This record gives sequence, C-alpha cells and structure tokens, in this order.
Amino acid sequence: MTAAELGSLLGEAARIVAFTGAGVSTESGIPDFRSPGGLWTRYDPREFTFDRYVESAEVRANSWAMRREFLAAMPQPNQAHYALASLESQGRLTGVITQNIDGLHQAAGSRTVVEIHGNVREVHCIGLFPRGGVPDGCGFTETHEWVMELLAAGDPDPGCPKCGGIVKTATISFGQAMPERAMEKATELVNACDLLLAIGSSLEVFPAAGLPLEARSAGARVVIINRDPTDLDWAADLVINGEAGTILSGALAAMES
Ligand code: NAD
Repeated sequence: MTAAELGSLLGEAARIVAFTGAGVSTESGIPDFRSPGGLWTRYDPREFTFDRYVESAEVRANSWAMRREFLAAMPQPNQAHYALASLESQGRLTGVITQNIDGLHQAAGSRTVVEIHGNVREVHCIGLFPRGGVPDGCGFTETHEWVMELLAAGDPDPGCPKCGGIVKTATISFGQAMPERAMEKATELVNACDLLLAIGSSLEVFPAAGLPLEARSAGARVVIINRDPTDLDWAADLVINGEAGTILSGALAAMES
C-alpha cells in the first residue's frame, strides 16, 4: 500500500527534491551515527567538534582513523541512490541535497547533488597554530588518497607540506559554519520543489533538518522515509518506516506500472 501511495505522489510531482542523510547509505555498508552499532557507539561525538580537532593531536588521529575505516570499505551505491538518479534522469527530480559525505549519489549517476556537509574526497589545509601554519589555511588541497598514503606509512596526523598547518577533510564538523553556496543552492531547490523526500535522516541536526520544514512552508508535500521515527514526523504528509532502498525501488516500480 505505501509503495503505491508513494508511487502516485512521485507520479503527480514535477519538481521532486530529495534530502538525504546517513540512512540512505547504510544499505551500502556505511554505518550511520545514531542507530544501534552506529559510529557514535564507538566514537565520542563530543570529540568531533572543529575546536577539538584544532586543539588536540589525539582527536585528529582518531578522526583520521575513522576516515580510514569509512573509506576502506569501498562502498557502492544501493537501490536508494539509483532510484533517485533515475527520477532525475526522467526529469522529475531537480536535485539531491545530502548531509552525506560519501559521494554515493554521484557514483549512482545523480548530477545535481548539493553536499551541505562537505565531502571526504578532498583534504585541505586549515592553517592554524599548533603547527605554526597560516591562519585560515594556505590553500593547499589534495585528494584523500594523498592523506591515506601518509596514514598507512605511519603518520597519525599528517601536516600541510606547504605551510606546516593542520590538514582536515573537506567535511563540515560540529561548530563549523555551513558552506554558504551549498546552503543557498539547497534553499533555492527546496523553495521551488513540489515534493520533498526526506530519506534516512534522524532530522535532528540543524540547520540542515530545517530544509523539509522550509519546503512545507513553501507549499510542497513532504514525505519522510526512515527506519525509525524522526523528530519531524508531525510535519510530513506521509511517513514510511523501513529500508530506504526497498521503499524507493518499490515506489518507482509502482509509479512506472
Ligand atoms: P543519523 O545517523 O542521525 O540518522 C540516520 C537515520 O537513518 C536514523 O534515524 C536511522 O533510523 C535511519 N536509517 C538507517 N538506515 C536506514 C535505512 N536503510 N533506510 C532508512 N532509514 C535508515 O544521520 P543524519 O541524519 O544523516 O545526520 C548526522 C550526520 O551524519 C550528517 O551530518 C551526515 O553528514 C553524517 N554521516 C554521514 C555518513 C555518510 O556520508 N554516509 C555516515 C555517517 C554520518
């Protein structure tokens, strides 16, 4: 019944926007933060703030260890990523706004992907002081492979080879400002959509979680697809609890039949 219901909402919509969180990638083998067994059961979230990253070599080493674990799995897109890419290629979906940093939407073929929490593909110099680097960074940018090689060679906290500053993945940590251009693009998409799909997000992390509310205020329908209840279920026209990949591929099949 829910697949048919979602299928007909998808069929009626002309400008769908997907807002995705860590739950869209768990079926690819990447753990989320808040589920049982999620990353926050093994790493302490209070240690993952920007200030702690800057002040503690131990926090940086732990953070790189988590990145290594994250990337070693070489995850592949799943049915949920492919379903969204397919809706875009059919001209029904105008963009994916994602909190994820794993690049799996692009790997599935999505072309308009707004990464509001950055990505793990790149690392850059953030400058700063314990190492005597340039404030705000010297502009040094490299791929994640560069840093992975140094970690594998035994350096737990690789520094900037240009200025000696701190190196960090191009992701947004707690306490760091949201990327301005990405948030502008996300707001633009949300305000122009007629159906917002919030998929695999606990909708607890603001300001990102405010985007479904913004879509609702702008007159769009809101559908929440999540394994567990979320804080914003009250604001949705339809809530479907279950696995994102199964639900989306079932709804697409229902829409196309
Ligand atoms: P979260 O961990 O707070 O919430 C994930 C939600 O997804 C949970 O409510 C869970 O019930 C649900 N879920 C898990 N598997 C699911 C599935 N197969 N189908 C449907 N729902 C499923 O994650 P969040 O809301 O994205 O916010 C936390 C932050 O975590 C974000 O900033 C994100 O950048 C970051 N993060 C990203 C990744 C990634 O890039 N893959 C992984 C972990 C965390």
